[in-house]
Amino acid sequence: MMTFPEETLTKLTVQKAERALRQFSATSFALFEWCPFAWRRKYRQGRTLEWEMTDRENNDDVVGGAELGSLVHWILSKINFSGDYETEIDHYLHDKNEILSRLPGHIRDAWRRNDRNEKSQVKEWLMNFIESETGIMMRNTQGVEREHRFRISLDGKTVLAGAVDAVIDDMIVDYKITEVNDVPPGLYESQMDFYAYVIHDMKKLDRVRTIAVFLKENETRERVITDFEGIRERIARAAEMCASDLESSYNAKTEHCGLCPFKKGCVKNAGTIQE
Ligand code: SF4
Repeated sequence: MMTFPEETLTKLTVQKAERALRQFSATSFALFEWCPFAWRRKYRQGRTLEWEMTDRENNDDVVGGAELGSLVHWILSKINFSGDYETEIDHYLHDKNEILSRLPGHIRDAWRRNDRNEKSQVKEWLMNFIESETGIMMRNTQGVEREHRFRISLDGKTVLAGAVDAVIDDMIVDYKITEVNDVPPGLYESQMDFYAYVIHDMKKLDRVRTIAVFLKENETRERVITDFEGIRERIARAAEMCASDLESSYNAKTEHCGLCPFKKGCVKNAGTIQE
């Protein structure tokens, strides 16, 4: 087995921590705030959290899952809300020859796997949204930035990176395919706080309105965010802890176990501890 001098190991550990600090996403931040133990399982150990499994891995009767969510987001980033959007949706959902080659690789399986019945449900979500108050507002507003990509420095050490589904002036629209009642309190708020901070920083705004759109139920949840210094401190603190190799950074927030979407199979689940 190859051995390294101690200073080399120290340097490698520091480099590893710096790499981890270099980039931080809204999902990563929200998961860390929800439960550092869940964050470690996903980002350090590379394990799939139950909530993110595909619909068939979880439950054959449910239309959902991370891949389907990505497919729905992809379609929403392409559709012209002012055009013949129904024909366009049909095209994106059914035109195999045209669409499969354009889809990002990681969502092709979800496209192939979804049968006609599931696709008709997806079409209904999309139609309902485009014809909703938020959809009509997006249709009637110039300069909607869809799939708004960002990469900004938080403090010279941490880069915030990702994409916001849509940005309209001082407003963020975020699409969800989770059902409203399945959303654990706080988890999505952290994600939206992160996005709001980014848009505040990029556009020099002192207030940002966030709209979470729950596509399955065609419902929205809105907030107005103004405490950007507080959010900046939370993100910086979480980023530092994520970059740390200290075990204590990843304590389970067992007070969240009862509502945790990742509790199935979690060894720390306060209800069913297995170790
Ligand atoms: S079940 Fe509890 S310990 Fe496990 S990830 Fe969820 S909150 Fe954390």
